[in-house]
Amino acid sequence: MQNLLGLDAAGLQAFVAALGEKPFRGRQLLRWIHRRGASDFEAMSDLARSLRARLAQTAGVQALPVISDSTSTDGTRKWLLDVGHGNAIETVFIPEEDRGTLCVSSQAGCAMNCLFCSTGRQGFNRNLTTAEIIGQLWWAEHALRAQLGITAEHERVISNVVLMGMGEPLQNLDALLPALRLMLDDNAYGLSRRRVTVSTSGLVRQIDKLASACPVALAVSLHAPNDALRDRLVPLNRKHPLQELMAACRRYLRHAPRDFITFEYVMLDGVNDSPAQARELVALVRDVPCKFNLIPFNDFPGSGLARSPALRVREFAEVLIDAGIVTTTRKTRGDDIDAACGQLAGEVQDRTRRASRAAERLPPVTTVAAS
Ligand code: SAH
Ligand code: SF4
Repeated sequence: MQNLLGLDAAGLQAFVAALGEKPFRGRQLLRWIHRRGASDFEAMSDLARSLRARLAQTAGVQALPVISDSTSTDGTRKWLLDVGHGNAIETVFIPEEDRGTLCVSSQAGCAMNCLFCSTGRQGFNRNLTTAEIIGQLWWAEHALRAQLGITAEHERVISNVVLMGMGEPLQNLDALLPALRLMLDDNAYGLSRRRVTVSTSGLVRQIDKLASACPVALAVSLHAPNDALRDRLVPLNRKHPLQELMAACRRYLRHAPRDFITFEYVMLDGVNDSPAQARELVALVRDVPCKFNLIPFNDFPGSGLARSPALRVREFAEVLIDAGIVTTTRKTRGDDIDAACGQLAGEVQDRTRRASRAAERLPPVTTVAAS
């Protein structure tokens, strides 16, 4: 059975061609599935009855089973989705006045093992498929439309997508690319490239690949102003140190739909939040047009870390702002349902023995003075 959710426009065209159909049938399918949220071929009234019957035999439109659906007091909504073999991933919808953002997962777990991240601590099970990635948007958009009583095909509830759920999206680029193309396709979700953001911990070669294959807005999880500290917070830094990452950001900007990179920086009490470290950061990003998004650390059991006090976050932001860098501090949303950044834990059957090895390997984090 071919799950049609996993096929972008070109894939659907090839699929219908193999059934002996004209290419425009692919486009019709695309619109039925993604614009209207149809999963029943019988409802696709402008397809010939014989084609509908053949589709019913060979294909399906299958989203992931929903394990739970919770809504926060601030309106944030979180779905826990079953990806099989005891693994579950999370998708979060964040409504704001002027937009609706969906935070999408790309992997069951994550292999990058960042020190402050609940997903990372859980270890890694597997990459999601294209159908599983785009299926999160398919499911959420149509569930939200139904909830709000929206029937018009062109009215969207979700205006922005961020790949900031569970997983490192650039470690799953092959499955991610067709999903991104569907997000941008006018016959599917029609989102502009500036409203789709891929967030990465810094996979340098894949940043270049994304630039040539499907440039969308890029967020880079920085978290530290120097290699000594970043090596400890984001282990990937040992392979791709900061200067390499900054160079990749500069290269990306030649293709990017926005003229800046967003740097994310989780604020950890006494670890990376001093004014001296803010000044070091300003020097680091001197040649990269960027904005900063400071994220108050969201705690999880056994993290051994703490959130920076609000005053320290403000002082840190002021150093960046005084240097001319647009800086925002992210509001924490949905923490009453564990839907805030870094709290997405889903359920991961770790295949890397991360949890047990982490306990053996990691020394406690102590305050690191800025040089
Ligand atoms: N793997 C990608 C995208 C998912 S994480 C990445 O790391 O960029 C999305 C954002 O949440 C990242 O910036 C990540 O560093 C941040 N984050 C992770 N754990 C967090 C926590 N406990 N509190 C606040 N933000 C966290
Ligand atoms: Fe993975 Fe991102 Fe968490 Fe790091 S912060 S462990 S890259 S999900």
